Amino acid sequence: MERPTSTANLPHDVWTLIAAKTAAQSVRDLCSLRMSCTAARNAGDEDFVYQCASIPILDQWWWSVSPMHQQGRNFLARCRQSGHLEILFRDAVSDLFLGGCRFTGMETMHAVAAHGHSAAQYTVSMMLMLGDDVEAKIKGLETFRGLEAAGSLTICKLVFRDVIQGSWTHLRHVPVLNGENLVCVSHACPSRGNMGAIYHHQRYGRGWHVNDGDGGAAHIPCVHCRADYELILFVHLFDS
Ligand SMILES: [Zn+2]
Ligand SMILES: [Zn+2]
Repeated sequence: MERPTSTANLPHDVWTLIAAKTAAQSVRDLCSLRMSCTAARNAGDEDFVYQCASIPILDQWWWSVSPMHQQGRNFLARCRQSGHLEILFRDAVSDLFLGGCRFTGMETMHAVAAHGHSAAQYTVSMMLMLGDDVEAKIKGLETFRGLEAAGSLTICKLVFRDVIQGSWTHLRHVPVLNGENLVCVSHACPSRGNMGAIYHHQRYGRGWHVNDGDGGAAHIPCVHCRADYELILFVHLFDS
């Protein structure tokens, strides 16, 4: 006897949503779901599902293992192809700081940032402000202001730090903050030149590091100085 409603009759879009929800919870569950029927299998192959896959950073290597004789055909590669922003962000961090192609890394980082990934926006903003190109610094500062206003700096730093510290590769290109490249150049600014001392006081005196809710430079009225504070903090995220 046939059941009145069978899950096999669900529209493809509904299956896709179910698969995406599952992928966001656990990739292992997604794999089981895909094996349950053809409809689930087809839906599970949509780009959207791969974009939603939750891949904890410590597990990432596991998903990059390719089946024998199928070099490069693995789950992670498929996520990348589908435009999984978090995976692309991690790739870009790796290219920029862990010894890949820095140009590619910056290009990917810009692309991921343009899609609204805030940790990528944070990274772009820090990299632009660390340089000495005046226009780039202004762009970097603009992005920084946006993240600051949105209250998203802390989460960006945590996400960024997880990628840097979750990597088992030796850091090859640790960014440096050149004193001449600081953002605040106003001789009239009373806080100019004090950000290093404030940072070290916060970090070593209070054991505080990336959590803005508990201090930082938020009380400094000069936005250029606050940007300098974040630059100092950024280069220190690479300390082991
Ligand atoms: Zn220092
Ligand atoms: Zn200042």
